[in-house]
Amino acid sequence: MPCTAGFTQNSHFMSRPLFVDVFPHAIEHNIRLLKAKRAQSHLIAVVKANAYGHGLSKVLSGLNAADSLGLLEIEGAALLRQLGWKKPILLLEGAFGHDDLAQAAHLSCDLVLHSDSQLDLLASQIVSFAGRYRPRLYLKVNTGMNRLGFAPEDVQSGIRKINALVSQYELPPPVLMTHFANADDDTETCKPVTTRVQHDMLMALKPNDWLSSLGNSAATLNHNHLAGDFVRPGIALYGSSPGPLTATEYGLRPALNFESEIIAVQSVKAGQWVGYGSRWCAPVDSRIGVVACGYADGYPRHAPDGTPVAVAGEITQLVGRISMDMLTVDISHIPAAGVGARVQLWGDIVSVDAVAKASGTIGYELLCATMSRHIR
Ligand SMILES: *Cc1c(COP(=O)(O)O)cnc(C)c1O
Repeated sequence: MPCTAGFTQNSHFMSRPLFVDVFPHAIEHNIRLLKAKRAQSHLIAVVKANAYGHGLSKVLSGLNAADSLGLLEIEGAALLRQLGWKKPILLLEGAFGHDDLAQAAHLSCDLVLHSDSQLDLLASQIVSFAGRYRPRLYLKVNTGMNRLGFAPEDVQSGIRKINALVSQYELPPPVLMTHFANADDDTETCKPVTTRVQHDMLMALKPNDWLSSLGNSAATLNHNHLAGDFVRPGIALYGSSPGPLTATEYGLRPALNFESEIIAVQSVKAGQWVGYGSRWCAPVDSRIGVVACGYADGYPRHAPDGTPVAVAGEITQLVGRISMDMLTVDISHIPAAGVGARVQLWGDIVSVDAVAKASGTIGYELLCATMSRHIR
């Protein structure tokens, strides 16, 4: 297994058999792969939402290959500094207010400025930091996603204000930034807002002495020539694919195994039913493994019969509805699997993207929930 080789960060949080093993080496591999897609670019590894559910402290040793880290939460930035991260940290939504800005200055965080009020707050406060705070400023432009950012017609005035701060306080060269809406989609050329259109709009607004930041994971993998000087991959670092190809097709390695064990075995006759709502009826006599993981543990309740699950290293199928803290799998064809057999919900055998797809969601949502449910 590529991911279980080398150093792992193991978490067995409770007496119930639930295991989250994080592989910093896989993250390092994924960073190098993304950097190779866009040589010369500066890579900001996005670690918001507690490193997409992997745990900031557990992934940090794999992140050294990144040039900067990006997140939203000032508490996360404080933890990263405490853990010894000395390279830049970018607050991807900027400061949420006066106190947040003071914290950001204390932690030497770089800042996204997505609105005039954020820019004015910085302009009025920066003097109070007495030249000790020299953040790189990222002006965010709304190029069609209509979520955050300066409207194109307001960008030049934002640029003028930032240039004034840069020269007065000797700040590093600023960055014009935007976020893509459809870079993950192989039908994107039919979308009203394409990666090419967003890219060209940003580049037309960018002064020559400014840098650019555009690429999320999807753009860095699928449209690397449009990703800009500073790329901001998130999901791909963790070995889940933004699409349209699979993680394996991109060469990405999963950075986490989420596992449990079989705690009971049922022998059911053909025609008997399993679980709530009697959703699954055994077509033939079957052995059913009961696994100590349910939706309270972050497994998606919408997973249908047939969703892949690995038992004792072999892929089999989920049968019956997910309970709060249990799920049931068909182990008729895995005679060696009994009580105590290891079960992988997602990781290096069953991809999180396969479970997500079957359940009508995306790997992002499943990963973000994994660790948070297991920290006490
Ligand atoms: C979350 C985020 C990213 C990373 O996106 P992925 O799809 O996970 O690669 C990049 N930029 C910003 C501003 C983000 O908020």
